[in-house]
Amino acid sequence: MNDTKRGACLCGAITFEIAPPYRWFAHCHCSMCRKHHGGLYGTGVGVPRERFRWLTGHDQISHYRATGAFERPYCRRCGSVVPAESHDPEVMHVPAGLVEGDIGARPRTHIFVGSKASFENITDSLPQFQAYPPGLDLPVAAPAQTPPTSGSERVSGSCLCGTIAYEATSAPRRIVCCHCSLCRRSFGTAFASTTFVPRQSFRWTRGRDRIATYRMQQPHSYSSSFCGDCGSLVPGVSHEVRVALLPVGSIDTALAPLPLTHIFVASKAPWDEITDTWPQFDELPPPEQLDEMFG
Ligand SMILES: [Zn+2]
Ligand SMILES: [Zn+2]
Ligand SMILES: [Zn+2]
Repeated sequence: MNDTKRGACLCGAITFEIAPPYRWFAHCHCSMCRKHHGGLYGTGVGVPRERFRWLTGHDQISHYRATGAFERPYCRRCGSVVPAESHDPEVMHVPAGLVEGDIGARPRTHIFVGSKASFENITDSLPQFQAYPPGLDLPVAAPAQTPPTSGSERVSGSCLCGTIAYEATSAPRRIVCCHCSLCRRSFGTAFASTTFVPRQSFRWTRGRDRIATYRMQQPHSYSSSFCGDCGSLVPGVSHEVRVALLPVGSIDTALAPLPLTHIFVASKAPWDEITDTWPQFDELPPPEQLDEMFG
């Protein structure tokens, strides 16, 4: 099978193989996917069970169940969301960001747009469904919808299980979408979506002792902080930077839409098509724009 693709979590402990035909390739905007992945939305591929194979690290998987319907497994070392059983016992649900190279297919739909983040605008022309696509008769938890607040001067957020929460007294001003291969594996999606607030304005409100951190030294330094109880990405607050980095999926405040900046676009996944008109940079923006970006 030379259409076989390999996938891995951020730390590389958990690896697997997939091959087509894929049953679905969908962007899911539900609040649980957003929180678990940490991004604007999660993107998943439905892989027939006989076309899916675990290679390594199956014993590194932690299991979290948010609702009766699905388990949401993640790597206990690095927090990456990893492949899971789906509503269909014959199909595995695979986070597309973990797959290396070209999956050989393209996203087909947006699902659960009824519960998308208040600050997200969908700009492509793929079909959109309020919840599951037609023909899938599964129970749906009512989304907790709060009207967008424009110019909110505070922001609060939490992980999927609710153990960890934070707040900041200043508002995020921009979302940075990083398409690099490490961010794809960390978020399990096409790109990382992160916003930031001044570090002095940020504080944890609960669960700080439950934060797990994975640090990669080679070949690039990269770190990811996640909830040790559910695997959701949580803010990164380090002494080297003057900002707290908030994975946008963790945000509970109904913020008004924010401008985006796309970075490391030169290394984006082939299936990741940018359809908005916000600025794009092959790698990092030049230093003066970087300063402006972090305001
Ligand atoms: Zn891992
Ligand atoms: Zn949690
Ligand atoms: Zn990145």
